[in-house]
Amino acid sequence: AEPILSVHDLRTYFYTGAGAARSVDGVSFDVMPGETLGLVGESGCGKSVTALSVLRLVRPPGRIEPGSRIEFEGRDLLALGERELREVRGDRVSMIFQEPMTALNPVFQVGEQIAEVVRVHGKGSRREAQDRAVEMLESVGIPDPARRAKQYPHELSGGMRQRVMIAMALVLNPAVVLADEPTTALDVTIQAQILELLADLQARLGTAIVMITHDLGVIAEIARRVVVMYAGEVVEQATVATLFETPHHPYTEGLMAAMPQLGGGMDRLNVIPGTVPPPTAWPVGCRFHDRCPYAWERCVREHPPLYALGDGHVSRCHLAEEPERRGQRHLPLAA
Ligand code: SF4
Ligand code: MG
Repeated sequence: AEPILSVHDLRTYFYTGAGAARSVDGVSFDVMPGETLGLVGESGCGKSVTALSVLRLVRPPGRIEPGSRIEFEGRDLLALGERELREVRGDRVSMIFQEPMTALNPVFQVGEQIAEVVRVHGKGSRREAQDRAVEMLESVGIPDPARRAKQYPHELSGGMRQRVMIAMALVLNPAVVLADEPTTALDVTIQAQILELLADLQARLGTAIVMITHDLGVIAEIARRVVVMYAGEVVEQATVATLFETPHHPYTEGLMAAMPQLGGGMDRLNVIPGTVPPPTAWPVGCRFHDRCPYAWERCVREHPPLYALGDGHVSRCHLAEEPERRGQRHLPLAA
């Protein structure tokens, strides 16, 4: 099958007083029709900017650099005019944000806001749009949808608001939904319900989902393939099964060690030492070298390419060529 969405060598830079912040720096990945692709990494790795770039929602001083390509249904989204782009956005590709309170308009009834999406895209009369909104609220599991449709965002719980966001993102039956940390602000029980809802809607509607999260637990729940990002780049890509059984990149290993253990509470006992460097100054060589438990001289000098490990598994780590280096760091760790 052909990918429905294909991101190719995407670079999104922010031109600030401190120099160019290379937030997304040469990212490529494909999304297949109807699949769930996980996009994982710590905050500051470029995941959200990648999603915003796909919908061309990056604002100045941010800029998508020439040479980047985003193909959707055979068209280059970066070459579309504003008008064509508006037709794609929300209709064929839509987005779910982490914080529904900021994405929903506080002064409009939620049913009204969903109906508005339908009307703006010319997909129905006022009356039809309103009916469609109520239908959608029902299909995202909101009880008494006709009454709820007349409520304002602040009258709903956090979990309900996220369901409204999902209803809004799916009302026009898009081919791709970009979901940016859609469950992060919710408590664990609600989080599980929302993931289940997304999986269920996807099975019914055939929507492809790009699930953006810092939490590998969420990926394990819902995704089939995973792209791991670090410092503006893809550092590993594999199926979920391969990634969890045989992770290759030391950053992925670190994320796994930092996953809360089942039944072990929320304590993060093993976090990756250090922090993501600022995007104005990505380290030379491997961008992970100052945090990596195995780094050696080559890692400081030479920027690793994405090494192919077979079956679509790729890793941006020199250990692919020198596996005997794993298990021992050869350089002093940064203070
Ligand atoms: Fe660590 Fe070197 Fe691999 Fe980078 S290339 S992740 S520093 S071992
Ligand atoms: Mg983010």
